[in-house]
Amino acid sequence: MGIFLLLFIIISCFTRISANPSALSFYDKKVLRNDSDSIKKASNDYGNIVHEIPSAVLFPSSVKEISGLIRSSNERSPPFTVAARGRGHSVRGQAMARGGVVVDMTALSKTRRRITVSRKGTYADVGAEQLWIDVLRATLKRGLAPVSWTDYLYLSVGGTLSNAGISGQSFQRGPQINNVLELDVITGKGEFMTCSRERKPELFFAVLGGLGQFGIITRARIILQKAPTRVKWVRLIYSDFSIFSRDQEHLISSNSPNYVEGFLITDENITNDWRSSFSSPSRQSDIAALLKKQGILYSIELVKYYDNRTASTIDKDFETLLKELNYNPEFIFSADTSLFDFLHRVGDLDSPTAPLDSHPWLNLFIPKSRISDFNAGVLATLLPKLNESSPILIFYPLNRNKWDDRMSAVIPEEDVFYTLGVLHSSPPNAYQIYDEFNSQILGFCKRAGIKVKQYLPNYKSQGEWIQHFGSKWPTFRQRKATFDPKFILSPGQRIFNSA
Ligand SMILES: Cc1cc2nc3c(=O)[nH]c(=O)nc-3n(C[C@H](O)[C@H](O)[C@H](O)COP(=O)(O)OP(=O)(O)OC[C@H]3O[C@@H](n4cnc5c(N)ncnc54)[C@H](O)[C@@H]3O)c2cc1C
Repeated sequence: MGIFLLLFIIISCFTRISANPSALSFYDKKVLRNDSDSIKKASNDYGNIVHEIPSAVLFPSSVKEISGLIRSSNERSPPFTVAARGRGHSVRGQAMARGGVVVDMTALSKTRRRITVSRKGTYADVGAEQLWIDVLRATLKRGLAPVSWTDYLYLSVGGTLSNAGISGQSFQRGPQINNVLELDVITGKGEFMTCSRERKPELFFAVLGGLGQFGIITRARIILQKAPTRVKWVRLIYSDFSIFSRDQEHLISSNSPNYVEGFLITDENITNDWRSSFSSPSRQSDIAALLKKQGILYSIELVKYYDNRTASTIDKDFETLLKELNYNPEFIFSADTSLFDFLHRVGDLDSPTAPLDSHPWLNLFIPKSRISDFNAGVLATLLPKLNESSPILIFYPLNRNKWDDRMSAVIPEEDVFYTLGVLHSSPPNAYQIYDEFNSQILGFCKRAGIKVKQYLPNYKSQGEWIQHFGSKWPTFRQRKATFDPKFILSPGQRIFNSA
C-alpha cells in the first residue's frame, strides 16, 4: 500500500512539472496562466464537491492554440492531461485536470461570437464554447431556432454534446447529440478534423456523448427550424403514480405535443415558482393541502407550439389532447408565452451572488418495464425517508428510437425509458448525507435487478465504467486507443485516469 502511495505521489509530481506553464514557453502569459484566480475557478464546478488543482489554465484566443497545447502534451513523457471546460456545470469534477491544463473554452468567444446561420437557415455553425442561450438569441433574430434543448440554457454547446443534452423535446426530436450535422474536433493527438455521419463517422459518433474522451469539439453544426412564435404551456396534477406515468407514456407516443416533462412534488416550495406565470396564492394553498393528504404529487408539464397560422386552432387542439388524459381536473394551470420566455424559463442561476451550495446530483435512465418497481422502492419508500430538504425531482419518459446507438451516450436497452433527475442542494461540504441517499437508490436498483444507467455518469473505478458501457465498452476503449492513445483528455471523468 505504502509503495503504491509513494509511486502515485512521484507520478503526480512529475505530471505537474511536465505541465508547468513555464515549460510551455511558446505561450503568451496572458493565454496560459497559473494565477490563483484562474486556478481556483478551474478547480471548482457547479457541484462544489470535487476540487482538483491544475498546473495551468489555457485561455485560448484561437483553435490553433488548443491543438498546439495537445500536441505539446503528446511530445512530453509523461504527457500532461488536458480538460476542456465549457461552463464548468458538471457536478463531480468532470472538467478538471489535476496537475494538467484546463482549457477555458469561453475565452474563444472573447474576441468574437462564433455563431453563423447558414444562408438557407437550415443549420447554424456554432463555436463549442457558445452558451445555448446565445445560440437561441442569435438564431431567433432570423426567425429560426434549434429543435432540441436542455432545461437550462447557460451551458456550453461542447459540454452538453459531450453528454447528450436532454429536455422535454427529446422524446420527439431526440437529444441534442441527435441534432448535429457536423463537428470540428481536435483529437487527443492534437489533430484537427472535421467529421460528420459521412465523413470520419467513427470520430463523429465517438465524440457525441463521449464525455470529452476523444477530442475537444471546437465547432458544431446544429440543425435549425423555423421558430414557432408562441407556446401554449400547461401543468397538470396527479395523485396516482400509475395514472401519471400512463399519461406521460401516452403523450410521448403521440406527435401532438412539442414538449413533455414531469415533476414529483414532495414539498410545497417546489411549486412556489409557478406563481408568477401559472397560479395564484390560493391555488398554491390548495395544492399544499392535497400534498399534505397524499405525501407526494406528480405533475406533467406539456407544451404545444403555435404561430399566426395555427393561432385559431391551438385552443381546440390542446383541448383534444387534454381529453385523452386523466389528470386531476381541479388543478390545471396554463400559460401562453413566447418561445424565448418558455425556453428561458429556468432563468440564469449563475449570478455572482448565487449561494455557493454543493449539488450532489444523481441523474438516472430507468427502463420502462421496471418503472412501477422503481416507484415502489425509490419514490414511495426511500424518498419519504429523506429527512433533509427536498431535492427538485424531474421525471419523464423518452423514446429510444430517437437516439443513435452508434454514438457514445449510454441508455437502457428498452424502447421507452424514464429519466429521473434528483437535484439536491446542500450547504458546502454537507453533501455526504445526499450522497448516501443516492447510494441507497443505486443499491436498491442493483438488488432489485433494475438495469438503470446513470446520465452525466460518475464512477470511481474502471470496473464500474465497464459495467456502465456494457456492450459499448469494447468500442469505447478502441476509440480511445485511436483518438487519444495517451489518455490526455478529460481525466476528471476518471474512466481511463485515476483523477
Ligand atoms: C443548472 C443545471 C441544469 C442542467 N440541465 C440539464 C438539462 O436540462 N439537460 C441536460 O441534458 N443536462 C443538463 N445539465 C447538465 C449539463 O448538460 C452538463 O453538466 C454539461 O456538461 C454542462 O455543460 P458545461 O459547458 O458546463 O460542461 P463542463 O462541465 O464544462 O464539461 C463537461 C464535460 O465535457 C467536457 N467538455 C466541455 N467542453 C467540451 C468540448 N468543447 N469538447 C469536448 N469536451 C468538452 C469536459 O472536459 C467535461 O468532461 C444541467 C446542469 C446544470 C448545472
